[in-house]
Amino acid sequence: MTTLALPASFADSPARALVCRECSNEVALAPVNVCDQCFAPLEVGYDPEKLARVTRQSIEAGPQTIWRYAGLLPAGQDIATRVDLGAGMTPLRKADNLAKALGMRSLWVKDDSANPTHSFKDRVVSVALSAARAFGYTTVSCASTGNLANSVAAHATHVGLRAVVFIPNDLEQGKVVQTAVYGQTLVAIEGNYDDVNRLCSEIAENEDWAFVNVNVRPYYAEGSKTLGYEVAEQLGWRIPPQVVIPMASGSLLTKVDKAFGELTKLGLVDESPWKVYGAQATGCSPIATAFENGWDTVRPVKPKTIARSLAIGNPADGPYALDAVRRTGGAMGHVSDEQVVEGIRLLASTEGLFAETAGGVTVATLRQLLERGQIDPDAETVLYNTGDGLKTLDAVAGEVGPSATIAPSYSAFMKTGLA
Ligand SMILES: *Cc1c(COP(=O)(O)O)cnc(C)c1O
Ligand SMILES: [Zn+2]
Repeated sequence: MTTLALPASFADSPARALVCRECSNEVALAPVNVCDQCFAPLEVGYDPEKLARVTRQSIEAGPQTIWRYAGLLPAGQDIATRVDLGAGMTPLRKADNLAKALGMRSLWVKDDSANPTHSFKDRVVSVALSAARAFGYTTVSCASTGNLANSVAAHATHVGLRAVVFIPNDLEQGKVVQTAVYGQTLVAIEGNYDDVNRLCSEIAENEDWAFVNVNVRPYYAEGSKTLGYEVAEQLGWRIPPQVVIPMASGSLLTKVDKAFGELTKLGLVDESPWKVYGAQATGCSPIATAFENGWDTVRPVKPKTIARSLAIGNPADGPYALDAVRRTGGAMGHVSDEQVVEGIRLLASTEGLFAETAGGVTVATLRQLLERGQIDPDAETVLYNTGDGLKTLDAVAGEVGPSATIAPSYSAFMKTGLA
């Protein structure tokens, strides 16, 4: 373990250095995301002594946000520099009705639609923009499939940072409006997410901006760990035996797995095994297809699905998601757009919870894994709902509507037979 100079703003952070995921080369904490030796992605490495200071009690005494886990995140402990809209500590709902419909014994839904901008992205953005601020940036930017755009625009506005957000020009209206309303710069690109991402990498080389999913991506990605920590804490400091997670780049899945590993290593939970399951839409399923075929590499695809928030055709963390699923003995599945809509409706009609398309993907994939005997119906399971149905109304608007439309008279109502 080499000692690298820490930026002053990170002096009291448990983060120690950036570590290459492939060759283990280490560099000082800085706004960089690829290894200068082998070009593989960099990941935050921690000081084990600083991590060991974190206890259940110190976490429980913290705020009702992701920042109760500040001692496990790459951020300074100075609250004044944090970019915090209150992400995290979203409900873990016991989903007995859905469990019954699926033939499962014990099922929970971790409902991240309850975040400030109604998706799980608030977790990663809060950590990424806090790091960006610590590095002294005044402009933040991102390439987004929608939810990230919402969250970056809102968080940046809250602390007076400039945001320049790039999206594909065919996004759902809900996501465009929910980004534009903050009055920041929003650029729609004639192309898909992968085109937007490529453009952003080019802009990042020339502008001194913090790109949430480029140069500050190592910090961004760590925010997803809080979805692992919270579930364990909400279960009474226990790791669930099975978790089902939607995948876009695959980062969230790998970080929930990393979080469970850290909690175990730190003795914050008793040692117990867990299995990680990944969900994609068939119209953009490069990671699940690699799993299905036993490939080690992920072959890029051109996305075509209503699950736009998961529509990353060339997923940066695909190979690592495959590793996590294979290592833990889980599985992956992918489902058609029709099944996505059925998944949304099943969750809504059993649990009173309206999820965006990504949630529909995850519910439908769980059902498929059960039907194929790839997941244990008797083992306690947590399903991650990562976004709000109000963001993707178009997905179901054609499928549901009023039971009847009638004149405002009692007799007209009685004629419907709905009384
Ligand atoms: C971004 C996103 C995900 C997962 O993203 P990863 O790139 O795999 O970390 C899941 N659900 C929703 C709704 C998202 O916006
Ligand atoms: Zn390397």
